[in-house]
Amino acid sequence: MDTAGRTIAVTVPGHQRRLKSAQKFVREKYDWILVQLEALPAAQPFIQGGNILFRGETYKLHSPSERGHPSYDEQSKRLIVPAHPDTLSGRTKRFLIREAREALTNCTYVHAGALGKRVDKISVRDTSTRWGSCVSRKTGNHISYSWRLICAPPFVLDYVAAHECAHLVHADHSKNFWRLCNDMVDTVKPAKAWLRKHADQLHAVGATR
Ligand SMILES: [Zn+2]
Repeated sequence: MDTAGRTIAVTVPGHQRRLKSAQKFVREKYDWILVQLEALPAAQPFIQGGNILFRGETYKLHSPSERGHPSYDEQSKRLIVPAHPDTLSGRTKRFLIREAREALTNCTYVHAGALGKRVDKISVRDTSTRWGSCVSRKTGNHISYSWRLICAPPFVLDYVAAHECAHLVHADHSKNFWRLCNDMVDTVKPAKAWLRKHADQLHAVGATR
């Protein structure tokens, strides 16, 4: 079961003949499969009036007109994305990616700067399995993040940035690595717990089913 992709896949090894037994398996396990899928948090499609997890809180997506710049209002907890109904979903996603890039870039430079390390490239992508990754090569240091981190509380986003920057010093998850992480932010434990508990919720943002 791929909770990030919100799907269940049945792998049929080898021969075509096994397809029949796979179909039988799905028929027999159908109720179990439904229970698993229903246990996932509700999809949060980018539609007018839809609830969207943003910075750890529930915002309402509001599209007041077709023109203008997207923004968010912390007081009324509204994501304001002017768009034609056909383009609302795409514009909302691009807005969240932009917000994620800004927040993650800021946090990354703060943490990398504190460590005296250089970051040559920051990518914000739609990765499904990892919240961040860090690659150190001769050509430069490259950190990638999932845009979905903008849906998590700011302290969680900041922790992931600190975690990836700490990999510029320790390329592993050794004791020394975690010691450094804890020196950089005092929220390692709660942030990790939040991510474990809410991963499926982050993947529900923008999902249509
Ligand atoms: Zn790591």
